[in-house]
Amino acid sequence: MTKSIVRLILSAALLAACQPTSQAAQAGGGQTALKVIAAETFLADITQNVAGDRLQIEVLMPIGVDPHGFEPTPADVAKIADSQVVIVNGAGFEEFMAELLENAGGQKTVVEAAAGLTQREPKEGEHAEEPGDEHAHEGDPHFWLDPNKVIKYVENIRDGLSQADPEGAATYQVNAETYIVKLKELDRWIADRVKEIPEADRKLVTNHESFGYFADRYGFQIIGTVMPGVSTGSAPSAQQLAQLIDHIKQIGAKAIFIETGANPQLAQQVAREAGIKAVTELYSHSITAASGVAPTYLDMLKFNTETIVTALK
Ligand SMILES: [Zn+2]
Repeated sequence: MTKSIVRLILSAALLAACQPTSQAAQAGGGQTALKVIAAETFLADITQNVAGDRLQIEVLMPIGVDPHGFEPTPADVAKIADSQVVIVNGAGFEEFMAELLENAGGQKTVVEAAAGLTQREPKEGEHAEEPGDEHAHEGDPHFWLDPNKVIKYVENIRDGLSQADPEGAATYQVNAETYIVKLKELDRWIADRVKEIPEADRKLVTNHESFGYFADRYGFQIIGTVMPGVSTGSAPSAQQLAQLIDHIKQIGAKAIFIETGANPQLAQQVAREAGIKAVTELYSHSITAASGVAPTYLDMLKFNTETIVTALK
C-alpha cells in the first residue's frame, strides 16, 4: 500500500473523528469516552485490569496472530488514528508501529509497557550462531513471559492512563495495586509448580527465542530454538537445525515446545530426529478467546506453566 492511500484513509478517519457525536461526550456510570487501544491481546487484557469499568480497551491484533510478522491493514490505521491512547509492548517488538503512529499523527499518548526494563543478553549456548548472524545482537522484547516484569508494565500503563485521563487516576492506582498483587501470587505459584520438575530437567527448547525471561526467573536453561533469533521472520539453515538436534541429544532435553501461531512442522521434525516429544502448545504471544484455555494474561502464564511442568516432570 502506498503512503498516499494511507494518508487518504487517515484523513477520512480524522474527519469522522471531528464530527460531534454523543460518544465523544462524557458517558455516564463513571465511564469516560477515552479511546484506548493495545497492540496485543495480552496487553489489552492487562490494560483492561488497570482501567477496570472506566474504559473499554480495544485491541489491534486479533487473537492468534504472530505480532512479529504483523502487517497493518487500512482498517488498523484507522483504528490507531481514532484512538487517544495507544499501548504497545515496545522494546522493538512492534516493528510496524513507528510508521503506523507517524501516519496516524495527532495528539496521542503512546505507552511503552516495557519502558524502563533492561533487556537480557542471550546466555552462552542458547543459540547456534553463524558468521554474520544478524539476530545475534537483537534485543529480546518478551518481558511479559515473566509476570514479575509485568509489574513494570502495569505501572507504565497506570501512569499513561492517568496522564490521558487525570480524573481516573485514583481508580487506575487502586486497580493497578490489585492486579500487582495477582501478578505476585502468579509469580509464586509458577515458582512452586516448577519445583515439581527435577532440576536437571529444567531445559527448554522452543520455536523462537521468547522464553528467556521466563527461564531466567524460574531457573530453566534455554537449550535452543528452531527459529534463530528473537523474532519469527527467518528460517534456520540446515546446518543450524543439525546443530540444534545434536545439542538436544547431547544436553538431554526432554521436549520441544511449540508456540501457537508458529508453523509446527520444523519443530516436529527436530523433535523426531532428536528422539524427543513435541508438545503443543504454548501461548506466548496471544491469549485465547473467552471459551479457550487461556482467555486472560494470568491464564496464559498458568496454562504454559502447567504444560511445561507436565511435559518435564
Ligand atoms: Zn516472539
